[in-house]
Amino acid sequence: MIEATAVHTPTAWHVTHWSEDPYSLGAYSTLAPAGTPLHRAMLGECLGGRFVLAGEACNTAAPAMAHGAWDDGLRAADLALDAGAQRVIVIGAGCAGLAAAGRLKAQGVDCIVLEARGRIGGRTHSVDLNGAKVDEGAAWLQFFDENALAEKAQDYVLVTIETDFSQPLAAARDGSVPDVDGAWAALLAGLDRRLSLASAVEHYMTGLDAGQARATRYAIEGHLLLEAGLPLPELSVCALDEEGVGHGDRMLPNGFGQLTQRLAQGLDIRLNSPVSRIDWAGDKVRVDDEQGDFCICTVPLPVLKTLAFNPPLPEVQQQAMAHLAMGRLEKVVLQFEHRWWPRSPSGYLRWYDTPASWGEWLDLTDALGTPTIVGLIAADAVERQYAGRTDEQIALAACEALRAWAEAVQSSR
Ligand SMILES: Cc1cc2nc3c(=O)[nH]c(=O)nc-3n(C[C@H](O)[C@H](O)[C@H](O)COP(=O)(O)OP(=O)(O)OC[C@H]3O[C@@H](n4cnc5c(N)ncnc54)[C@H](O)[C@@H]3O)c2cc1C
Repeated sequence: MIEATAVHTPTAWHVTHWSEDPYSLGAYSTLAPAGTPLHRAMLGECLGGRFVLAGEACNTAAPAMAHGAWDDGLRAADLALDAGAQRVIVIGAGCAGLAAAGRLKAQGVDCIVLEARGRIGGRTHSVDLNGAKVDEGAAWLQFFDENALAEKAQDYVLVTIETDFSQPLAAARDGSVPDVDGAWAALLAGLDRRLSLASAVEHYMTGLDAGQARATRYAIEGHLLLEAGLPLPELSVCALDEEGVGHGDRMLPNGFGQLTQRLAQGLDIRLNSPVSRIDWAGDKVRVDDEQGDFCICTVPLPVLKTLAFNPPLPEVQQQAMAHLAMGRLEKVVLQFEHRWWPRSPSGYLRWYDTPASWGEWLDLTDALGTPTIVGLIAADAVERQYAGRTDEQIALAACEALRAWAEAVQSSR
């Protein structure tokens, strides 16, 4: 059995708040009802030969991921180069902004990066917890063998560790864990994609017995909501096709920040420079007090809506923005004196709670050499677990979910 409650009090914790951060307002983009990957491409169309939106939301091949942002930053830089730009203003020093600025600098273009925060990295950011580097945002280089950022990490000889997301140590609060992967495959094959996602799932569920319905609910939770970060009524059927973890994922045990710090070296990055207005009416683009002949704006999707554009963003971009949405994903990092929870050989843990809570856990104890575990929570479960709570209360509630998972694992053995 699990030991007495006192040993489950963490010695340190860290809770993220991406959804409330004014410079992200969420975790990453997803497809809203009727949204398709085409809307991502539309968002990133070049405007007037001198202005382009870029970042993970514009990437159709690797949306929502750090390397998708990186690739899209390179795409945007190429547009500026094709336009013959001599001075380029990049807004945002996340992966997309760093990629764009790096390529432009390498081509001899005068380029400045205006970054609102007092740090670089955007939605990648490593914090120090008692000497261990833990990532608030992106931690994994996904699709490692086809990932340009992973190539950079290899060039810099950074240590990476593989995570096998297909082998979770899973438990459910309400009994044994059903065949979740089988239920997911059956759902994908059986959904009527002509309907909205919520209606299609509702229709599909009416044909299932209680056991199949339970497995399907868990499959949706684990395979879709934890990836897309929004409840079903706020998602497109096409969100089912946007892949996330599970394809040769490798993490940086010393933090993603060591990669972005290297990528930023030598770039002209102006920290604490929040942009509020982009004027692209004339031959030049004016960004607050700066002027260039091309502008690459990489701010996250919801932040775009807070900026003033002159002229306003065209109908194509407005349509695209109406069909894209921002998912919610948050993390809690917990450190303990010792590892009191059962060990998962893959380091990956799944918790099927009802209603959903901290559904995914990654045990970093072996990677960091100190008992550390990271919980992930997504979609409307964030509101349920965060509302009205301090960080300490959120962390302690997460500990409770971990304890319940550990007890369920042990009682199933
Ligand atoms: C919790 C979490 C876990 C994740 N896990 C992974 C993972 O494991 N693997 C993975 O590949 N991806 C992951 N992601 C997604 C990944 O972090 C993002 O897709 C990627 O970092 C986005 O890069 P970007 O350059 O498009 O945007 P950002 O990183 O958001 O960069 C935009 C920059 O613009 C700045 N900015 C915003 N507003 C202004 C303004 N007004 N003026 C000036 N600057 C401004 C921001 O401060 C920021 O630096 C995760 C994200 C989160 C939140």
